[in-house]
Amino acid sequence: MKSKAFAKNLKRIIARIENARLSYSSHQIIKLIAVSKYHTSSDIECMYEAGQRAFGENKVQDLKSKTTDLATLPIEWHFVGTLQSNKINTLLSLKPSLVHSVDSLALALALDKKCQTRGMVQDILLQVNASKEDSKHGFALESISDIYAQITHTCANLRLKGIMTIGVNVDDKRQIAKCFEQTKKAFDTLQGAEILSMGMSGDFELAIQNGANMVRIGSALFE
Ligand SMILES: *Cc1c(COP(=O)(O)O)cnc(C)c1O
Repeated sequence: MKSKAFAKNLKRIIARIENARLSYSSHQIIKLIAVSKYHTSSDIECMYEAGQRAFGENKVQDLKSKTTDLATLPIEWHFVGTLQSNKINTLLSLKPSLVHSVDSLALALALDKKCQTRGMVQDILLQVNASKEDSKHGFALESISDIYAQITHTCANLRLKGIMTIGVNVDDKRQIAKCFEQTKKAFDTLQGAEILSMGMSGDFELAIQNGANMVRIGSALFE
């Protein structure tokens, strides 16, 4: 039975999150998003039974099929993947709790417009490319303050909740920590930002120690 293994994994990850949280601040509240992109609806149901409520997907089609399969469960769905503008309508029709990955001004404007047409307001995060890797999407850290203010002022149908970043893909822990530290510094300058989404299976403790309050964990939970 997978549910037993998943319950064990979940318990272990929550204990690790708790340790990292306490080493940062006992007042910090941290939210765990289980990234289920490589897993089936039935696996997600097992993880839900183990106690997990919030799940993240990175493809609009997968989010659609999984939200349909699991429509009877009160799951909170997050979208964490690259969003193509021709998928915006489908994504919005699925009513995601939070879109983590708004990575350009053009995408924010397109999302805002579609939300307006649909008469809805969508919670989003701006994705920051703190590691400056070419393979990664997102705004440069240096520009995030201006862009954040600009989107806040121009996109009435988007509710900007904070920022998301993917840690630099290297073995050097100091380099990863530095990337998180810089992201936290930028986050602290943003008016009204509440959510700092950073940390995955390989680096979530470092992210929490640098101020993350939302972590997105896939492989370590579903193994
Ligand atoms: C896949 C993914 C994760 C989870 O990655 P793991 O290393 O499996 O924990 C987190 N965030 C994003 C944006 C992802 O695409």
